[in-house]
Amino acid sequence: MMRIVLLGAPGSGKGTQAQRLQAKFAVPQVSSGDLLRNAVARRTELGLKAAAAMEAGQLVSDEIVLGLIRERLRQPDAKDGFILDGFPRNSDQATALSKLLEEIGQPLQTVLLMDVKTNSLIHRIAGRRVCRSCGKVFNISHLPEGGKCDNCGGELYQRPDDKEEVIAKRLEVYQSQTKPLIEHYKQLGLLKVIKGEGALDDVTKRMETALAPAPAEAPTKKVAKPAAVKEAPAAAPAKPAAPAKKKASKKKAATKKAAKKQAAAKTKAVPVKVTKKKASKKKAATKAVKKAAQKVAKKSAKKAPAKKKVAAKKGVKKSAKKAAKKKAAKKK
Ligand code: AMP
Repeated sequence: MMRIVLLGAPGSGKGTQAQRLQAKFAVPQVSSGDLLRNAVARRTELGLKAAAAMEAGQLVSDEIVLGLIRERLRQPDAKDGFILDGFPRNSDQATALSKLLEEIGQPLQTVLLMDVKTNSLIHRIAGRRVCRSCGKVFNISHLPEGGKCDNCGGELYQRPDDKEEVIAKRLEVYQSQTKPLIEHYKQLGLLKVIKGEGALDDVTKRMETALAPAPAEAPTKKVAKPAAVKEAPAAAPAKPAAPAKKKASKKKAATKKAAKKQAAAKTKAVPVKVTKKKASKKKAATKAVKKAAQKVAKKSAKKAPAKKKVAAKKGVKKSAKKAAKKKAAKKK
């Protein structure tokens, strides 16, 4: 039984990690982005309504997304829990979600925030490739042999909203609409922060540790060792009974202090800095994001010929045919 929300900026690894966790915990990944993309691909009425907002990097209307999520959470495979990925994305959605979960008697247990630096986010989004058939996520830095999905053999593609011109907008939307949810879930005592950088396996481990049930608190009585309160032996007359009592009370105080520290550390387990940026700072940040996104996009473009090389080595006839055509055209 696991009912969690994965919170984080686009490119923070929510989707990738949700795919891993669903296999381990046997609860489905419920991705609002996937549900929407599916509706767009099937050209349903909802999909057609959602497509424009998605392509522009904007949020799709709450009504549409909530409808899809409601329907998905009522499926039998979600009765024992779910991993919500990409939902909620603003405060109205968060309110609607808690109402919905109350209705179906499945309150949230934990909200995991994937903490990733902006530069890494841009790098990941611009280099992301997704399998058209099974949705497995890859990055151009680690593409499978032959450039096909290593899970189902499907074709890999770049999501239209992963293109450089949309990335900055999506990050901006995250800052203004989704980031405030960090404070919301912190207030509710549900938030845990995970460092989302580093090897995939390491991030998964961190998430599993965060999701593991907290160990029972150590009994404080045991910490105050009874031996210390024991009467001083006759051979040590320098330590009369009174100071021994003092010692005991000192230990008690120390134990209390330690317990307080522990409690404080627990609160610190959710260290979220919600810094309110001034408008000018925001503008500068958006500019920086755009610049960085362009850089990454250029790099990805440079990497593309490398892929062609692999294809050529594998004896893909297409490129040879093209070359022959070109030659013929030149001769003409
Ligand atoms: P994602 O796959 O989570 O990055 O989502 C891709 C796009 O789908 C977003 O940029 C939004 O346009 C849309 N989308 C996904 N989830 C939501 C949501 N909870 N609310 C509104 N729009 C969403």
